[in-house]
Amino acid sequence: MTQHSASPISVVTGGAGFLGSHLTDRLLAEGHYVIVIDNFITGSPHNLQHLAGHERFQFIRQDVTEYIFVPSHVDYVWHFASPASPIDYLELPIPTLKVGSLGTHNALGLAREKKAAFLLASTSETYGDPLVHPQTEDYWGNVNPVGPRGVYDEAKRFAEAITMAYHTFHNMDTKIVRIFNTYGPRMRLRDGRVVPAFINQALTNAPLTIFGDGSQTRSFCYVSDLIDGIYRLMMSHYHKPVNIGNPCEMTIKEFGEAILKLIPTQSTIEFKKLPVDDPKVRQPDITLAKKILSWEPVVHFDEGIKKTIDYFRSKI
Ligand code: UDP
Repeated sequence: MTQHSASPISVVTGGAGFLGSHLTDRLLAEGHYVIVIDNFITGSPHNLQHLAGHERFQFIRQDVTEYIFVPSHVDYVWHFASPASPIDYLELPIPTLKVGSLGTHNALGLAREKKAAFLLASTSETYGDPLVHPQTEDYWGNVNPVGPRGVYDEAKRFAEAITMAYHTFHNMDTKIVRIFNTYGPRMRLRDGRVVPAFINQALTNAPLTIFGDGSQTRSFCYVSDLIDGIYRLMMSHYHKPVNIGNPCEMTIKEFGEAILKLIPTQSTIEFKKLPVDDPKVRQPDITLAKKILSWEPVVHFDEGIKKTIDYFRSKI
């Protein structure tokens, strides 16, 4: 590592995941030395294979709920490790709780030991099934702690609380990003989330599975926009939570219809039971991010979704 001593050193937990791997690419492009830690519980080595042999890249296979040891100096810790799709945290409830609590504690401990800045990847799920719309950072949320999504929502709410405690009690430089629905290449084809699900179904002529009547809304952000907002947040001096997402809101039915227009397919629409506690609406209020980070999304839905469809086409 000595020959790169001029490079800032970043540790990315969950760096083999969808967002973590895009963040790793961005950090390498910014000249960082990047140490990724991942146990592949939901991430994949494929997301990092293009970095094999990169002189500023190092990989450690580890579960971050165990003590994290990094011998070198560290400047930034980006804590992205967590299952993040509703079917993942239904299948992995305890690992989801552990990585949000014990994993965040360990990642904060590493940052404290190294006097590094720390960024927590939090989530719009901290707002639960929101009663305020669009969601502003000062809204405390409407979460069912014992429902199926509680394992993720409450783990992330705990993660925010412990991050703020390290900021106030240990005087650490911490950041909290609340990530809204994001899409793009490297999502898992079968991770159950609506973007890969509908694209996969349309590409294979299977019916599009709309849960409920499809009137629930989401607001989809292209991954490069999201990573840019997160990078700016880490480099800022703002310590309270910041929403990063695209406010362009649509119903799930509208999203399905858009996919059917964009992909030549025999697929029809099939309505299925709405999962328990599925949020009825979701849209980020990004006034704060615009103001403090001079950030807003620039990739239009049509452009981002075409790139994502091309990616999934190459994977089928
Ligand atoms: N959804 C759907 N069909 C699917 C997968 C998801 O209608 O095959 C709906 C889901 O019920 C939710 C929305 O799409 O209302 C977004 O779901 P996703 O799993 O992508 O993430 P969430 O925003 O709920 O965390």
